Amino acid sequence: MDRPRIGDWRGYAELTRLQDVHLAEALRVAARSPFYRARGDVPTNRAELRQVALTTKRDLRDAYPFGLLAVDRAELATYHESSGSSGAPTSSYYTAGDWLDLAERFARKRIAIEPSDMFLVRTPYALMITGHLAHAAARMCGATVVPADNRSLAMPYSRVVRVLRDLDVTVTWSLPTDTLLWAAAAAAAGARPDRDFPALRALFVGGEPLSPARRDRIAALWGAPVVEEYGATETGSLAGECPCGRLHLWADRALFEVYDPLTGRTAPEGRGQLVVTPLFREAMPLLRYNMEDEVEVAYGACGCGWSLPTVRVLGRTAFQSRAGGVPLTQTGLEELVFGLPAEFGVLFWRARAASSHLRVEIEVAEPHRAPAVAALVAAVGRTYGIDAEVVGVPPGRLVPLSLLTASADVMKPRGLFREDEDWDKALSYY
Ligand SMILES: [Zn+2]
Repeated sequence: MDRPRIGDWRGYAELTRLQDVHLAEALRVAARSPFYRARGDVPTNRAELRQVALTTKRDLRDAYPFGLLAVDRAELATYHESSGSSGAPTSSYYTAGDWLDLAERFARKRIAIEPSDMFLVRTPYALMITGHLAHAAARMCGATVVPADNRSLAMPYSRVVRVLRDLDVTVTWSLPTDTLLWAAAAAAAGARPDRDFPALRALFVGGEPLSPARRDRIAALWGAPVVEEYGATETGSLAGECPCGRLHLWADRALFEVYDPLTGRTAPEGRGQLVVTPLFREAMPLLRYNMEDEVEVAYGACGCGWSLPTVRVLGRTAFQSRAGGVPLTQTGLEELVFGLPAEFGVLFWRARAASSHLRVEIEVAEPHRAPAVAALVAAVGRTYGIDAEVVGVPPGRLVPLSLLTASADVMKPRGLFREDEDWDKALSYY
């Protein structure tokens, strides 16, 4: 099947025609899925699709493991899971054909992946798709992959720093938070991120909401541009940055709607929950899948000329809290913390919102502690109109130094030990 590439359409009218062509096939695939067949008539065009009930995360959990499967199991290339807050697994599965679309979407970066790149993949490989996505995209582009994972005892932060430097890593893929931890680990090892890693030319990040101030701080810390990405294990990459630095939805590869949970209506743009219908799926069709991420979508002109809607990702609605009757989001608070002057060196923070009280802790060394605390109290007051309790804690309190300096300690199973060795770990080889 011919997958569109950026530049294949001129303007939104052409994009819509392109979507309709591929939607017809996507709906034929959905008709082969037991889940959608059981729901009754599968739609055959865009107008009918609009009448279809949204597919929810709950639906995917209930369909565990293969309720949506539209091909023979032998055709599957990979199986993945993500787990929500309930702990119940959500399955995703892809054919080799699906993987072409997945890798191409991820590879759409304003800083292209090159064959000469040394690409550190620092997101999980276990069950989730994120590590495999970056791995496949980097391989497709001819880059050298360093498969580092981030949930493995084999790859503590000290080792990440060593690999970044010794291998002249040029591009990385991780959570934004991880790049801050590498910076702290580099500092703990006596290195300076913006000076001692000259090969590094881009930090690809995703998987977490990222406020503009934190993004700017990460770029400044490393002296390399931060390139954002948005997606999920069930969908792969859904949006990436254009050369103008704005996040665009891949609307040539999926249909997008914005859902208002209060009215139950969807619209092409505006603020609400993002709903997606991927257009190039073989194994696991999804019709109007509600990502349950709060977003703001707009169809305007952008200097890149891509003619793809822009999106601002505001995060999971469930992550919102209230303090003193005022709604707070993590991204909103983060913007204030990283809006503090860089010389204060505040990289790590946490906050607890109670009904009448907001407590924020920031890691900050003397002599910056008192001015940092005062500045943050003032910023929260200005933004939210509440009196926050801000506490400056010494570095190491929120992120222990031992986490940043620990070295790899991975054993293999053994049966035979010398008498001076600890044999209690004979089979717990982790
Ligand atoms: Zn753009």
